[in-house]
Amino acid sequence: MKIPIQLPRSLLVIALSCMMVNSALANDAPAAASAKPKAAAASGPSDDDLSKALLNKINKGSGDIVIRTSDLPAGKPPTQVKPEAKAEAKPKEAKEAKAAAKPVEIELTEVIQWSYMDGPGGPENWGNLSKENLACMKGKNQSPININVDRAVKAQMTPLEFLYRPSPLSIVDNGYTVMVNYGEGSNVIAEGRQYRLVEFHFHKPSEEAINGERTDMVAHLVHQHHDGDLLEVSILMTTKPPATTRRYLWGNEEVKGNALIQTLWNHVPLVKGKVETPGVTIDVNQLLPANRGYFTYMGSLSTPPCTENVLRYVMKTPIYVSEEQVKNFDRIYPMNARPLQPKGDRIVKESTSK
Ligand SMILES: [Zn+2]
Repeated sequence: MKIPIQLPRSLLVIALSCMMVNSALANDAPAAASAKPKAAAASGPSDDDLSKALLNKINKGSGDIVIRTSDLPAGKPPTQVKPEAKAEAKPKEAKEAKAAAKPVEIELTEVIQWSYMDGPGGPENWGNLSKENLACMKGKNQSPININVDRAVKAQMTPLEFLYRPSPLSIVDNGYTVMVNYGEGSNVIAEGRQYRLVEFHFHKPSEEAINGERTDMVAHLVHQHHDGDLLEVSILMTTKPPATTRRYLWGNEEVKGNALIQTLWNHVPLVKGKVETPGVTIDVNQLLPANRGYFTYMGSLSTPPCTENVLRYVMKTPIYVSEEQVKNFDRIYPMNARPLQPKGDRIVKESTSK
């Protein structure tokens, strides 16, 4: 056990905020990625205990802060990693989870939090913040990209089969986006392989661009195959009214925003990092455009650790959201989109079926 932990006062605040961030999920990482922090928290003192002990020390003492075992609550025997966390993790992640099941260690090198703003934590530096983020800097298949429609290979591909069903709402503002954890039993089938919908979240503006243009927002639906492979579906969101909107002399037919988005915004938690389950049911089918044509390419998670080998699907047709709905997200996250990444020699395919 790495206790006592010596922390210079100047690093305390950063270390504390770092621990809080550790508990938040990366936007694009599925639930399996949480196996590691869960495992770490399962044995020895929890982040919470450490935070409390640190705060107590700050309130009392002066000079360097030393946390001893005696400062931590007693009687916290190490517990086993939860089986479901193990089952969901990829072999590699399972190994990491095992390693992380050792007592909590605070890594003082990871004090800079990643962000979308230019600066030490900005997108250009994500790869430098931790060895685990190396793909953000060195990866050759990163997301998002600009999709040049003229250069996309037209192909008759099987339509994506969305087998989504309603789920109890579980919503969290994780400090980078508003994220919805989705209940089990909703899947997408792509080329005969089934991936489970794990969560979805939002970016403003849309991360991916089509012919150089980004839309007002995008929803990323993150799916995972039982072998660990990831598949993300991007649903572009626009405030431009659908072409079918009737025009009247006194103005356009009133177009209401997206009903699901409205439910989500109504239940955005007041506190960051706190998962709310307000007891309502949602249906992610309400986010899908009627036209199921798509672009597809091999990409990555668009947030650290920028893991590659993520099968990306971008629906060609955006869904409509009201300006008020975009404005409300803007009040929480005015800009949370990663810059476009080089496409390199990757192929983008466009489905010609509807
Ligand atoms: Zn995303």
